[in-house]
Amino acid sequence: MTAQILDGKALSQRLRREMADTVTQLSATYGRAPGLAVILVGEDPASQIYVNNKKSACAQVGIASFSHTLPSDTSQEHVLGLIGEMNHDPRIDGILVQLPVPQQINPERIIEAITPSKDVDGFHPYNLGCLTARKPALRSCTPYGCMRLLEETGIDLHGKEAVVVGASNIVGRPMAMELLLAGSTVTVCHRFTEDLAAHVARADIVIAAAGKQDLVRGEWIKPGAIVIDVGIHRLEDGSLTGDVDFAIASQRAAWITPVPGGVGPMTICMLLANTVQSYQTAHLAHNTEL
Ligand code: NAD
Repeated sequence: MTAQILDGKALSQRLRREMADTVTQLSATYGRAPGLAVILVGEDPASQIYVNNKKSACAQVGIASFSHTLPSDTSQEHVLGLIGEMNHDPRIDGILVQLPVPQQINPERIIEAITPSKDVDGFHPYNLGCLTARKPALRSCTPYGCMRLLEETGIDLHGKEAVVVGASNIVGRPMAMELLLAGSTVTVCHRFTEDLAAHVARADIVIAAAGKQDLVRGEWIKPGAIVIDVGIHRLEDGSLTGDVDFAIASQRAAWITPVPGGVGPMTICMLLANTVQSYQTAHLAHNTEL
């Protein structure tokens, strides 16, 4: 069997075109564009690329971006102060602090300082809790993007065996909650899991998010499975690869995401979707008050 490709690049382009139309209509109705504030602390080259990609994605769909690039020795108090101002700024619907942050800054303090209704990354414990309690509000972008890719297969996820490899707060855990909400039977594997191969081998859906290049061997994949590869690794020649051994896995899976061009573009797309959602929620709340 040769897998069909779950093309995140093409899907995200389609969704962004649709979102641009929505944003045009909303901006005309409410007299302002949705706004996303992006804070970057330090000069990490990868972070600079991610931030620039997010800003150009905003421009493409008509979202206003407010960018703050701060020196690497910026204090935590300064960043918290900036977030406090943004929490009350009516032009800003979403606040994003690019991670990782320099060591003098505690990322948890930063995430928790963002008001949950503007937490468009979906990292705040309130938003993670909402998803866990089956009332998703702003959903973590990468798992949300993975769910959108799964939807493209047209396969009903109820009762499917789903195995999530990785248990971080930003990918693995919310991913497990998304799949549970969709009715799958979910197993979460992590660094202490014994016999990862056996778990992956019985999975109808594999989400690989361990950040370990080629951790998921192609021959572990159950024939006909859906494989979503979240991992991103840059090789010496500059090319990108994931957590899954794509060459063999794609001979066994029914559907598979490539790296690059799978989950990555969907993550940015869901960030935009969350910003538009936050904007709409803010305006609906305002109209109700009137
Ligand atoms: P993380 O380091 O915070 O978490 C990794 C998780 O994998 C941990 O729960 C750990 O227990 C688990 N793990 C490590 N080794 C394992 C093993 N041998 N077997 C099973 N589990 C193991 O990483 P993260 O932030 O969740 O990111 C994971 C990967 O996803 C990274 O490659 C990252 O670059 C990538 N990522 C991609 C996107 C995207 O948009 N495509 C977004 C976020 C993260």
